[in-house]
Amino acid sequence: MVRIAVVPGDGIGREVIPVAEAVLASLHPDWDFFDVEVGYARWQRTKTACTDDDISALKSADAILFGAVTTPPDPCYDSVILRIRQELDLYANLRPVKGEGFDIMVVRENSEGLYSGIEWRERDRACTVRVVSVAGSTRIGRYASRLAAARGVPLTIGNKANVLKSDILFREICSAEASRAGVSYEARYIDALALDILMHPDRYHVIVTTNIFGDILSDVAGYLVGGLGMLPSANIGDQLALFEPVHGSAPDIAGQGIANPIAAVRSAAMLLDHLGYAGEAERIEEAIQSLLHSGIKTPDLGGEATTEEFGAALLLALGF
Ligand code: ATP
Ligand code: MG
Repeated sequence: MVRIAVVPGDGIGREVIPVAEAVLASLHPDWDFFDVEVGYARWQRTKTACTDDDISALKSADAILFGAVTTPPDPCYDSVILRIRQELDLYANLRPVKGEGFDIMVVRENSEGLYSGIEWRERDRACTVRVVSVAGSTRIGRYASRLAAARGVPLTIGNKANVLKSDILFREICSAEASRAGVSYEARYIDALALDILMHPDRYHVIVTTNIFGDILSDVAGYLVGGLGMLPSANIGDQLALFEPVHGSAPDIAGQGIANPIAAVRSAAMLLDHLGYAGEAERIEEAIQSLLHSGIKTPDLGGEATTEEFGAALLLALGF
């Protein structure tokens, strides 16, 4: 039996995940869906955001559907999603951005870089260490190069090697992996790339980059497809996989029932694709497109539908 861990999390995660879960459960009524509560709301109630048992529960699942967790800017609070990505070794963060005339996959290194967790405060400064390792760069460079090879497209290596010595290593290793996989590649500085992806999205296909650059670049690219409410992601390791919208818990609109559930539903579609149900993932995307064409949209896209109304219309469009 396929077991799916469902983590609604905080804020709008609790509003959009039920829509995505309903889609999965309608397609696969025989699957076992079980909730795992982690995040800031849990911390406020119990002073624990995520326990070792929660991590074990997540590890026991065939795949994880994740909403969003709020991370308060409190020096004593450790990010839950960071801990999960690290403990489950989900080293590749895949963020597809698709639209008319472009099909981009941002492959974000997900285990080190500026998110190394090596941080401290001393006297009059605070430090965060940016770690770029040979092992970490090799596995993400290889992952992205193989993806580019499979798609028959070139690889773009997003970096800032003109300023950061650590990115000289990253660029070298990714270039070598691209050559090994037989794909052509181009190294681009991340700041110029962030502009060019908006001006010429058709020129980009698979982009590999370090942790925080990938995070920022994918939010920027969200501009091309209607905003953060549209972007799904997959966090992939050699054993486990977690699927989550790119957006966070959006405290400003939480509780209003107006969050766009498309990013979460597309994340569920990526989960299906990962488990071997590519046809179902396509059906979901077609249903989303048909709703958008008929004007059923949440307010962020200029429509009037609530999260729940969009969810109900989506199930109907899927034939449930
Ligand atoms: P977090 O701290 O959890 O990352 P955040 O404040 O950074 O939360 P995000 O969720 O990353 O918020 O999104 C930034 C803004 O984009 C939100 O404040 C919200 O207005 C908008 N937004 C994000 N996701 C959605 C969505 N699914 N539907 C509609 N608007 C959204
Ligand atoms: Mg955010």
